[in-house]
Amino acid sequence: MVIGAGVIGTALAARLSGSGAEVWLLDGGEPGAGTTGSSMAWINAHSKNPRHYHDLAVSGMRAHAALVRETGPAAFAEGHGGEGAGWYRPGGALRWASGGPGLDVLRQTVARLRDRGYAAEWIPVPRARELEPAVRIDDGDRVAYFRDEAAVDPGPLVAHLLATARAGGVRVRTGGAARVVGVDTAGGRVRGVRCAGGETVAADVAVCCAGWRTPEVAALAGAYVPLVPGDAPGSEAPTLLAHLEPAAGAPRLTRMVLTPGLHARPLAGGRVYLEALDLNDEVDRHTPADRVAALARELLDRAHGVLPAVAATARLVGGRVCTRPMPPDDNAIVGWTDGAEGLYTVVTHSGMTLSLRLGELVAGELLSGREAPELAPYRPARFVR
Ligand SMILES: Cc1cc2nc3c(=O)[nH]c(=O)nc-3n(C[C@H](O)[C@H](O)[C@H](O)COP(=O)(O)OP(=O)(O)OC[C@H]3O[C@@H](n4cnc5c(N)ncnc54)[C@H](O)[C@@H]3O)c2cc1C
Repeated sequence: MVIGAGVIGTALAARLSGSGAEVWLLDGGEPGAGTTGSSMAWINAHSKNPRHYHDLAVSGMRAHAALVRETGPAAFAEGHGGEGAGWYRPGGALRWASGGPGLDVLRQTVARLRDRGYAAEWIPVPRARELEPAVRIDDGDRVAYFRDEAAVDPGPLVAHLLATARAGGVRVRTGGAARVVGVDTAGGRVRGVRCAGGETVAADVAVCCAGWRTPEVAALAGAYVPLVPGDAPGSEAPTLLAHLEPAAGAPRLTRMVLTPGLHARPLAGGRVYLEALDLNDEVDRHTPADRVAALARELLDRAHGVLPAVAATARLVGGRVCTRPMPPDDNAIVGWTDGAEGLYTVVTHSGMTLSLRLGELVAGELLSGREAPELAPYRPARFVR
């Protein structure tokens, strides 16, 4: 039984499918419509610490590349060859800074990543302009290129994983009636879950993949799994994002770009996803709509500076605040969970990058009963109530 059909739950369900185990996937909303649907979905190991977490993220990047090889042309998003209806946007990431603290951080990042054997190189400004003609890069900027990074479109990726899960026999229930409202236990063991629609589903293992709602779902089984709250002042969990919708014929962004004041990535139909780390500090789940709209306009202003030809004709859409599932130490939480025997938790930030690899590792543990050494640093027991 998998609770939650975001990228984490669907990647796991796809891996469990066809194994002979009876698997249910329940979501109280629509698959991929939670945090996954609002994610920037940059596939990277750019700032992951300590070293074991970096390595896990690199194996996450490789798992994405492997799924693309296995799927073939249908995996690629529009503008990247193939059939154009898929999710994968290769092409790496460009990151630049002109000086000051932004450049110091970039220098440290490139040095650390090169030490770790990661593809991170300085490239001349004309080369960067050639790679991404739609952006403004000044002559004095220093530009780093991370060629193995990518972006994915969450909707088509989740749809693909869900189709794989269904084809392999996973039973999927979604919508309000499938929201899990109780976990039944007997003798301290999970026996099944109760859904808002009245259905009871028997299970001897419940895997909680409920994203930022993990603490409340775990609590249904008497377990403690902490996440950074989305409504605490200064919390890193809430994130402001907005989309640009350029007019037809406007130049297109083709890969991830990161500057000290703006992160941007291409979306389907020429749209562009915008985020700025400093503006995230200004929001939480209760920020009034007019303040969110003003901050989204600030993202548009910054886009005029970084992507002038794209932003010139663009309409700003979808300015909103979304909550990241953020473990207190920023690393993933994965494993059997104290409170009820048979309850397993998988929750993480960077879940787009990690999803496919976590799906492989967790399915391996559940099906074989053998612990994966790679998951040892991430066990829920490191947090004490
Ligand atoms: C703005 C933003 C930018 C991000 N950028 C990146 C990035 O660039 N790269 C990256 O790797 N990661 C990024 N992340 C993080 C990444 O998106 C998340 O880690 C990932 O999407 C989490 O997936 P999930 O499946 O755990 O959660 P979700 O997508 O939220 O899925 C959880 C599901 O559980 C369901 N659920 C909850 N409670 C119940 C219940 N009681 N019963 C049944 N179902 C329930 C929900 O309906 C939901 O569908 C970003 C996140 C945000 C918010």
